[in-house]
Amino acid sequence: MRPFTFHPGPRIISGDGCATQLADVMPDGACLFVTDKEVLRLGLTDSCRDAMGQSGREIILFDEVEADPSKDTLLAATDLGRRHDVTHVVGFGGGSPMDVAKLAAYLLGSGDELDEIWGVDVAKGQRLPLALVPTTAGTGSEATPISVITCEGGVKLAVNARPLVADWAVLDPSLTLGLPAHVTAATGIDAIVHSVEAYTSARLKNPLSDALAREALRLLAGSLLMAIEKPHNVEARSAMLLGAHLAGLAFSNAPVAGVHALAYPLGGLHHLPHGLSNALMLRVVLQHNSEAARELYAELAPILLPDCEGQGSQARCAALIDQLDSLVAASGLKPRLRDHGILERDIPVLAREAMKQTRLLVNNPCPIDEGDARRLYEAAW
Ligand SMILES: [Zn+2]
Repeated sequence: MRPFTFHPGPRIISGDGCATQLADVMPDGACLFVTDKEVLRLGLTDSCRDAMGQSGREIILFDEVEADPSKDTLLAATDLGRRHDVTHVVGFGGGSPMDVAKLAAYLLGSGDELDEIWGVDVAKGQRLPLALVPTTAGTGSEATPISVITCEGGVKLAVNARPLVADWAVLDPSLTLGLPAHVTAATGIDAIVHSVEAYTSARLKNPLSDALAREALRLLAGSLLMAIEKPHNVEARSAMLLGAHLAGLAFSNAPVAGVHALAYPLGGLHHLPHGLSNALMLRVVLQHNSEAARELYAELAPILLPDCEGQGSQARCAALIDQLDSLVAASGLKPRLRDHGILERDIPVLAREAMKQTRLLVNNPCPIDEGDARRLYEAAW
């Protein structure tokens, strides 16, 4: 066996309506409760906030988190927590409120300055107790040590460090029942990409991340269409939420690669949602990788297509790519870049931007240079 390191994630509370259990596990004192206006308006936080309030805690509500949260938003949340002397933090919502909650808990607990902790494993201080409650099944942010913040000039900076892993992740499928189909589709495909890219990650994949990625793919691919067609099917929603969490644990250890590297410029330059951007680049990047990653894709194929078990690796690899492509199509997402306002003349800039994602490109099973990127965007256009 090759030597490896594996980092576990947070402790997990799961089950229908389980977010109220945070009242039993979080410390006494004031709670900085980070969410966004939409999650609040939908009433998703009500029972959890009620339970925590009834146990005598003061809830300090911060609901100003926007999509792609800014540094100003993060610092405002941190400031609010400091003024009220909070003892713990809850992040409740999609990836954005969770990312803000992670860093607010860290800044409040450690006293570190934000501008001194960007990057990988720079933050080494002690954060406040932290629980994360996802309301979408996709980013896996509740499982990961990563927080992405939009800084001056639209530049996205990330803190990736073990102290950002929460104490508790709360997987409550009832919170995801109302998600609209296009959000279920895009976030679900994102989670599928996390599992596939973790399984083929060039440097840090290991037996545990592999096991997590395989089970994540089984849960996600097996339930995505049901969750889209029958949004109130709790079983499908549970499988999606658990699958997204397991994929998050997998890619916390075996980081994502080329699909994400080419997806990020679509978000940064054209404001396409993260999950949709990944869905658009999935097929072409997998095809690009299909020689280098053939054996690994072939290992994954029977998870989606049990009948292909006896076939050769080339056939299984092709079957996996086809099957994932069909899943994107069946999810109802429009599959081409041109469907989403991207012009052919945007491609050279996208390719140049993608080359900046070196931290992701190094994990791809084979190199992607600027010429490759241009060709892949053209194929996806
Ligand atoms: Zn992603």
